[in-house]
Amino acid sequence: QHDETWKKLHTHIDEWVAGSKTHTKEGHVASYIPELANASGNILGFCIMDHAGQTITSGDSEFRFTLQSISKVFSLILALMDNGEEVVFSKVGMEPTGDDFNSMLKLELIEPGIPFNPLINAGAIAISSLIGGNTPDEQIDRILHFFRDIADNPALDINQNVFKSESDTAHRNRSLAYFLKDNGVLDKEVDEVLRVYFSHCSVEVNCTDLARMALVLAHNGVDPIRKQRLIPRRFVQITKTFMFTCGMYNASGEFAMNVGLPAKSGVSGSILTMVPGQYGIGVVGPALNRKGNSTAGVHLLGMLSQEFDWSLF
Ligand code: GLN
Repeated sequence: QHDETWKKLHTHIDEWVAGSKTHTKEGHVASYIPELANASGNILGFCIMDHAGQTITSGDSEFRFTLQSISKVFSLILALMDNGEEVVFSKVGMEPTGDDFNSMLKLELIEPGIPFNPLINAGAIAISSLIGGNTPDEQIDRILHFFRDIADNPALDINQNVFKSESDTAHRNRSLAYFLKDNGVLDKEVDEVLRVYFSHCSVEVNCTDLARMALVLAHNGVDPIRKQRLIPRRFVQITKTFMFTCGMYNASGEFAMNVGLPAKSGVSGSILTMVPGQYGIGVVGPALNRKGNSTAGVHLLGMLSQEFDWSLF
């Protein structure tokens, strides 16, 4: 079945990507982080990787972008590895919000004022504070090493322009963090925690890096190429569950209906997803819909899921 899928992908992917690319017109590039507004809206890149590391790429697959909210998946995993489940779930809940990713609306609803889940901004900021290390620099260093290991790419690094651009304009995230600090969720200083958070959001990758990182999650924490366990199975299970229920923000239900795979999006227009047990997938299309997901990316994944019957249900 793998061979058949691969053959079909090889034959049709360029026409499918070209077809989905027309949907970039329906979206807008994010501009609340000024540096992100420089990306062209008319981009769609795709990469899929199998267990042996073979890839099929299409469209603007060389386009480089920052992980943004996709990084929350891997900072969560690192926080779980550093602290265990009990500590992590004393700081964040397990429920979707149905609100925008940077919403303040429900911060006081779960006792004792902890964010609903680790993939909304408030939750991810709480998670950033849990990464091991005595200083923000040490924490950032650990995150970078971890991301490079999962991506099997020692060249991954922070895009300092994006980092600075977000850091200079992040009034809303700053207010979320102060709220968390007041609620006793953050043990560290707000500015230090935010520096860690903005840093992991600003790690620069391409579609192939995304597909490579997703491949490790698709295989439950084992890198099938290096044949090495990188993440405990339970922590991947926790993370994929969050990706399914909250990974596409308040469009997670719709994505579950139309694609049916665990996924995580970022405001750079990126989407990381996987076919469990098989493929890692990376997509980027910076033009976003109202909920902050790539218009063309979501369209392409819906098409592929239907074509290959990838929905988990
Ligand atoms: N760094 C971005 C922010 O905090 C991440 C948000 C996202 O990708 N949706 O706003």
